Amino acid sequence: MASNAQCLFCRIASGDIPAKKLFEDDAVVAFHDVNPQAPTHVLVIPRAHIPSLDDMTDADADVIGTTILRVTKIARELHLETDGYRVIINNGVAAGQTVFHIHFHLLGGRSFGWPPG
Ligand code: 5GP
Ligand code: ZN
Repeated sequence: MASNAQCLFCRIASGDIPAKKLFEDDAVVAFHDVNPQAPTHVLVIPRAHIPSLDDMTDADADVIGTTILRVTKIARELHLETDGYRVIINNGVAAGQTVFHIHFHLLGGRSFGWPPG
């Protein structure tokens, strides 16, 4: 899907709205969450505007696969892989999704409980 001018994360990806970016390439953008829930809290998004997991089609498989690979690359670069890290997608309102552009939360630097809240 193309970029959506009303979408916060599309506007961050394009540079229209500022964010503390730590990685970007043709397919993916990563930036620090404005309200971090752990010492490291990075959001990793595809540039393509896909609102939620439920909007994905087979055509999105490559870009979502690439996005997950970038999550792991960023985790390694931040040295999170030794202790471990958590990757979360909140999908839909009941799960806590507030921004309807698929994003992976990459959280690290502390221990995490299970089950999640
Ligand atoms: P969700 O609740 O949809 O899973 O996650 C949305 C995340 O986006 C939240 O963790 C929230 O703190 C973050 N967020 C919301 N607005 C902004 C913003 O303008 N800039 C950045 N960097 N993060 C944002
Ligand atoms: Zn978007």
